[in-house]
Amino acid sequence: MKNGVCPKCGCTVVIQGVRVLDHGHGNRTHDLSVAVDAKPDAWVFKGRVTGELWACVCGACGFTELYATNLDELVKAAAVVPPAEA
Ligand SMILES: [Zn+2]
Repeated sequence: MKNGVCPKCGCTVVIQGVRVLDHGHGNRTHDLSVAVDAKPDAWVFKGRVTGELWACVCGACGFTELYATNLDELVKAAAVVPPAEA
């Protein structure tokens, strides 16, 4: 939907760069995010890398598509996770 066309209804009224808010302690808002732990089994220092989410929202049907930021760092963190044993 980054191309400005809704895949659900075909509308071209698409709002780009919409913040995705979460409400935390004390009702404070912050951007919703994704996290990749480079060392998920570590007790403390998990090497967590996060990326904030932003959205494209269709102005006709409300369909919403999410995108993450910080992609290079997320990929690097994910790459050091050992593959699962077969
Ligand atoms: Zn739509």
